[in-house]
Amino acid sequence: MLAFNEKGIYCALADVYIDPWKPVKKAIISHGHADHARWGHQQYITHISNVPIIKHRLGDIEVSGVEWNESFSIRGVKFSLHPAGHIIGSSQIRVEYKGEVWVFTGDYKTEDDGVAVPYEPVKCHTFITECTFGLPAFKWTPQDQVMEDINNWWQQNRDDGKTSVLFGYSLGKAQRLLKHLDTSIGKVYTHGAIENMTDVLRTQVEFPETTRITRETRKEEIKGNMVLAPPSAHGSNWIRKMVPYVTASASGWMTFRGARRRRAIDKGFVLSDHCDWQGLLESIKETDCEKVICTHGYTDIFSRFLREQGYDARTEQTQYEGETAQLESENERESA
Ligand SMILES: [Zn+2]
Repeated sequence: MLAFNEKGIYCALADVYIDPWKPVKKAIISHGHADHARWGHQQYITHISNVPIIKHRLGDIEVSGVEWNESFSIRGVKFSLHPAGHIIGSSQIRVEYKGEVWVFTGDYKTEDDGVAVPYEPVKCHTFITECTFGLPAFKWTPQDQVMEDINNWWQQNRDDGKTSVLFGYSLGKAQRLLKHLDTSIGKVYTHGAIENMTDVLRTQVEFPETTRITRETRKEEIKGNMVLAPPSAHGSNWIRKMVPYVTASASGWMTFRGARRRRAIDKGFVLSDHCDWQGLLESIKETDCEKVICTHGYTDIFSRFLREQGYDARTEQTQYEGETAQLESENERESA
């Protein structure tokens, strides 16, 4: 029903692609991150919450939005979108033809983050899953606890007369952090890329007040407050305005101490918008699927483990990057 070819995940029956990485006629898009929502398709179909996001990122595109669980047919193949809990508007894509059901997860996480509509398991025969963090070493701490640690870190830095600079992707992580920051500690300042994306999302979710850092922003007014910045701002000229500051990153990769040290970041908080090991296994079980296809992450190790558990599991090559390469490739140095 779905095949992996050089352009993406293809449904030949409907002549439509799912999250293609090369330009195609018709694409169903799981969410707004750059490795899933690419430029150049003639027609985009995605969840209504993702429409303003991809318009902001891709400009003037032809896009139609659908609701959760709203099924639409293309050449007799039935499609519907279901919450993936990864970021605002992120969907799993369900495909049904003659009683056979496949589900593509895109990126997903099982914990309710208070911003995205929470993940919902969908029954299927074949489950196409990411496994960005498909190793037993990845075990997430509940968000409440992580956010308490982050807020305590901020308070401590403020007491020390320093500014807190917290790195997170401009779409997804930044808003999740913002939503749960304790603004009784101080004000939240933002990098332009984060401010612009948050503005787009304010029509859908309520967030605390933020102040964009511009050339006019004075160093003294930022001091002791929180600055949200994309990972690419680390080591840039832009960040000099924050002196004296301390840096932190919020990512699943902070599980490994080496990841923080390599990036020369002062503090690491383990907070991911993907499933951990247990989350992946539980999700797969809940779908009642027989077949699993792993698309990105620790695909070989994870699919081997699934085969040992009795699943018909395999890996397919895709160009999705999960959380790894986004950190390196996110190119958002606009400082306005
Ligand atoms: Zn993503």
